[in-house]
Amino acid sequence: MKYTTALFDLDGTLLDFASAEKQGFFAAMEKHGIPCDINVYERYSAINDSLWKAFERKEITKEEIGTKRYEILFEEMNITADAQQVGKDYKARLAGMGILYDGALELCERLISKGVKLYAVTNGTAHIQANRMAVSGLDKVFIKTFVSEEIGFRKPDKEYFDYVFENIEEKDKSKILIIGDSPTSDIKGGINAGIDTCYYANKPHPDNNPTYVAGSYEDVEKIILQ
Ligand SMILES: [Mg+2]
Repeated sequence: MKYTTALFDLDGTLLDFASAEKQGFFAAMEKHGIPCDINVYERYSAINDSLWKAFERKEITKEEIGTKRYEILFEEMNITADAQQVGKDYKARLAGMGILYDGALELCERLISKGVKLYAVTNGTAHIQANRMAVSGLDKVFIKTFVSEEIGFRKPDKEYFDYVFENIEEKDKSKILIIGDSPTSDIKGGINAGIDTCYYANKPHPDNNPTYVAGSYEDVEKIILQ
């Protein structure tokens, strides 16, 4: 077994954040009587993506993102609405949704049965992630979840990974693999930290050369257990 320890990103890797996000968005907008359709959602999604990139570059805080994405959206839509409250309602909805991709939990259970130690590494919000993990059952497969908010550093910071390494059993970095769907946080973070990386997504390959590219959970399993 090449890797004894797997660091899993959550959103977009094991948790179907796209579905949860979409449902949460429509529910929050509906609660506030704001008309919206798929085009509005797609615009929101693009704004949100650019703000999370800004977060990775430390130009904005997570707290600010929650309100800012709705402020920008409402401004573009030319409507007056309480962006802060919509943002809060959205987060409340999201916290209750732990939608897993098919086979995600089974993958984790198979890896555990082979003796692989699993940890979650996420830039998400602490209480939301805790809720979603409990709802999805993921809380039972990870030895520990490292939420950036609680550590004070985020992926791809080297300090974030230093903290992780101090708090896991495996001390040999060559036996640790990070699996994630983000070139800018998971892959870049793994490279910064000096561990092997597995890019998991059905998207074009990132340009920063992950050690592996996996298109399915079967691929992920084979890579870890090779
Ligand atoms: Mg992700």
